[in-house]
Parts: sequence; structure tokens; C-alpha cells
Amino acid sequence: MGLIVQKFGGSSVANTERIRKVAERIIEYKDAGHQVVTVVSAMGDSTDDLIELASQLNSKPSAREMDMLLSTGEQVSMSLLAMAIQAKGYQVISLTGHQAGIRTDSIHSKAKILDVKTDRLEQELGKGNIVIVAGFQGMSDENEITTLGRGGSDTTAVALAAALNADICEIYTDVDGVYTSDPRVVPNASKLASISYDEMLELASLGALVLQPRAVEFAKLSGVKLHVRSSFNHSEGTIVQEVESMEKAMVVSGVACDHNVTKIALFDVPDKPGIAYQLFDALAKENINVDMIIQSHEQENRNDISFTVTRDDKDTAVAIANKVADAIGARGVAYDDTVAKVSIVGAGMKTNPGVAAKMFEVLYRLNINIQMISTSEIKVSCVIDEQDGNRAVVALHEAFGLDKLEQ
Ligand code: ASP
Ligand code: MG
Repeated sequence: MGLIVQKFGGSSVANTERIRKVAERIIEYKDAGHQVVTVVSAMGDSTDDLIELASQLNSKPSAREMDMLLSTGEQVSMSLLAMAIQAKGYQVISLTGHQAGIRTDSIHSKAKILDVKTDRLEQELGKGNIVIVAGFQGMSDENEITTLGRGGSDTTAVALAAALNADICEIYTDVDGVYTSDPRVVPNASKLASISYDEMLELASLGALVLQPRAVEFAKLSGVKLHVRSSFNHSEGTIVQEVESMEKAMVVSGVACDHNVTKIALFDVPDKPGIAYQLFDALAKENINVDMIIQSHEQENRNDISFTVTRDDKDTAVAIANKVADAIGARGVAYDDTVAKVSIVGAGMKTNPGVAAKMFEVLYRLNINIQMISTSEIKVSCVIDEQDGNRAVVALHEAFGLDKLEQ
């Protein structure tokens, strides 16, 4: 007997027929003698629908009221799923994030889980119940409902798996697993049997949106093994785990393109200590995640600083950049949101020189100009024109041999 935590995403519980299928799947595990905790997302696109409703009444609703609204989506699916399981004669209980013991910080709309008090969960499991938990939500110490950021049900599932010391955390979605690239862009993309946390983290944050990045980080820190798989069939998906547990590390295991990028540049900035601090501290105080940062070579004690943020943060980030530019005596600020970031990711890159050069060569042969470059031990990313994004991905996927992957 094992303890399994599973998460079913919006498409897996999009309608009552799908919910019934999920119920059957959960029951299979129960019948096999496992304890099951299932986290659900809101049905289909209902979170988007709620956001749309809100926007009809207020263009800038408070984050607190948004959390009150959005947290209802998961309460609909959790109770319906529990009812579907009851209808089949099994013992089940649904719990809100708060009831499941999920305590978060107080940052509405992007709260972080601080800890999970597992007493209630353990008590319900002990009674023989299947436990259904509303994903994406928790409770702050001020007794306010918080949400964990879009896609946050993944993080709920990982946090519960870690707290309960589950044997596996299954993430059910509408694709068969993690692919070498987005199959809608690269028809030859193949499913990876396994991938390391670090690679997944890069791919998740790069727009291969199968998992919320924070969920992967959490899984890595707590050593929770993830199985990303489809709720529409029973095939094996992709295991996300420590690189040491994998058979072999691929030089490049994935190519991704992130379209949610804005490039912001400050021109003609005085070259002296403290400037970068002022700018990026101001951005951090507004909770804006900065991705790439480039500072140009100094000329006559002046240089340029460019950085990227997501498009949702564009307006706030540009406003901050303008303010800081005035304060430090920079010449001006410009932004461009017609860019994309294409990246190659692979744990085996560390030990194989020439991978970045090969990527640059592929882009050069396509006559694509590289605007920014960043690298890590397992990733090379280039900011390019958004319109070149897809053909860059297709060409890189082929150049690194991912079109004919055998596994
Ligand atoms: N329902 C939320 C969203 O759509 C959370 C989730 O799906 O994980 O972002
Ligand atoms: Mg969703």
C-alpha cells in the first residue's frame, strides 16, 4: 500500500463526463489498496471566465477580492468530483486549501506556501477516505484566502506530496508527458521518458507550460518524484527526478520558446556603483521577476542596461524603469514586446563544449539576429524577434538530433 498524491488540471475536469472519468481513475488506485489525495484545478477555463467576469465590473479589482473570486473555481470541481466518487459508493471528502492545512504568506494572487499542517489530511486518510483538495489556494496567518499564481494547483499537489511523504506525485494533464518541444510547433517532438528537475525547471519557466515552475522547484527541494501524464489514457508519461537517478543525461533534451517576454532598456546610464542595485531593488520591491540582464561595455563612463520581464509585468516595470532613469540621470527608457526567448536545455551540456556555438550557428544560418544571450550550466537562451521564434525552434530541434530521438 502506498500514498499517492495526484493533481488533475482544468482540462481533465472540464465537464461532468470528464469528472466521472477522473473519479473512476481515482477509484482504481483505491481498489489497488492505495491511499489517495487528489488535488483539482478549476473546471476547464473557468478561472479565465471568472477573471473576465471581474473585468466587466472593475478594471483594477483588489488582489484580495480577486483571490476570493478565483478560489471558488477549485471549490466547484472538488465538490463535484467528491460527489462523483460518492455516487460510485466510495468514501470521500473534499477540503478547501485551508481545511487541508495549507498555510501561505499574505501576498494575494502569488502567495507562497509556508507549510502544510497535515493533521486533518491524515485523519481523513485514516478514516479510509479518498481526500480531494482544492488546488491553487491556501490561507494566510491573517485568515485571508490566498491563491498561488496561475497554474498553482501543481504547487498544491507537490506541497501535499512533500508534507505527507507520498510515494509519487502524479500530475494529470491533457498531454502524454513532457516533450522535447511544443508538438504544436514541432510536429516531430517526442515524449521524454524522464527529465531532471533542473531541466524541467528551465523548460517550465521557458514556456513549456506543463508544470508551474514553482511546483518543480518545490519538488526538487523536497525530493518529490513527479509523474507527468495524461488523464485521457493510461500510457506512461514523463518522470521528473534527480539527474543522478536518470539513465543518461542528454546534451540537449528540449527546445522551448517563450513568447511572454518584454525587453526593457535604459540608455546612457552613468557607470558607477549602486546603479544596478537601485533599478533591480525597485523592481524586486514590486515583486517583479527579472529574467535576463545585460549591461553593455562602458564608454565615457556611461553604458546601457537591458533586462527582460514577463508581459504581465511590463507596465509596472516600464514605470519603475522611467522613475529610476530620471533619478539616476539616464537618457531614456525603451521597451519592446515583440520579442521571444528561444532556449535549448540539457543536463549533458555541462560536459559537452560547443553547444552554444552550434545554437548560434543555427540562428545565423536562418539569418536571425540575436538580441540578448544568457547561459547557465544546462541552458542557452537567446532573445530574438518574436516572428522568428517558431522557425528557430524547429531548426534547433532538428540540429540537436531531437527529431530522431529513440528511447
Ligand atoms: N485554476 C487555476 C488556473 O487556471 C489554477 C490551476 O489551474 O492550477 O490558473
Ligand atoms: Mg487552470
